[in-house]
Amino acid sequence: MAFSVSVEDFILNTPIYRFEEFTYEDMPNVAEILFYEGIIDCYCVECKRNSTFHAVKNGRGGYPLVEIYNTYVNAGNVRGPHFAGVDLQNWKQGLYDSLTNGELYFVNKEFTCTRDEEHKIVLNYLVKGNKIAKVGQYPSLADLNQLDIRKYRKVLSKEKYLEFSKGIGLSSHGVGVGAFVYLRRIFEYLIQEAYDKAKSSPDWVDNDFSNKRMDEKILSLKDFLPQYLVENRKIYGILSKGIHELSEEVCLKIFPHVKLGIELILDEKLYELEREEKLKATKVTLEKIHASLLDD
Ligand SMILES: [Zn+2]
Repeated sequence: MAFSVSVEDFILNTPIYRFEEFTYEDMPNVAEILFYEGIIDCYCVECKRNSTFHAVKNGRGGYPLVEIYNTYVNAGNVRGPHFAGVDLQNWKQGLYDSLTNGELYFVNKEFTCTRDEEHKIVLNYLVKGNKIAKVGQYPSLADLNQLDIRKYRKVLSKEKYLEFSKGIGLSSHGVGVGAFVYLRRIFEYLIQEAYDKAKSSPDWVDNDFSNKRMDEKILSLKDFLPQYLVENRKIYGILSKGIHELSEEVCLKIFPHVKLGIELILDEKLYELEREEKLKATKVTLEKIHASLLDD
């Protein structure tokens, strides 16, 4: 499998101890991760809001990789992992040979929040042979993601919100199948909630709903469900296949995508809820204004 993890993905979505294999061809990508000097957008657990983080140059440690980096990259008078003007052929070969010489290399990376330098994200990478993994991270992936999903408390019951965050926590600790179980429960909850709403509608025709397959259930509830869910109802099939047939590894790989699908469904619910709240508030205000105008 080709190495295709971006810096942001490595920091924000990859669980620790998951080794990614790289080849000579992957050197630019690996160097970008090891020596990244740019910015990342991410939740700050101190600010309690999204923020931008800057990479601290060369971090602490990273030796002797930093030396290798300086030798091969800065030799071409290029600062940072921007490869224009560098003799790429030699640079890639040099770094590849150094990384895969049989030693263990540890690299520490530090990122600081733009709002306050004391707010940090700290990462430890390990390179072993032709494999690289994150072997340490603070704040944990679960904490970074946890705050990210807080807004969904408005559209999930307390119990389901906790299950959602448990699923994310499990995936960030490398438990893929278990994480899928929680996501599937969220999905089923959304269907059940729509069904309860539909049943109370005078136009609802049940047609033995509870014995239908999930795909048919979703179609018959399409007027009561977020459009994104109806269009992407195969998410349920993926979740079920994950629980019954797929390996931990495959579940972990696709977890971020399925999670994003669930988030899009919840985003749509959130949007609807906020719209309803605004409509209600506007109606009340307009009635007051109207009444006050009539009084004059
Ligand atoms: Zn901050």
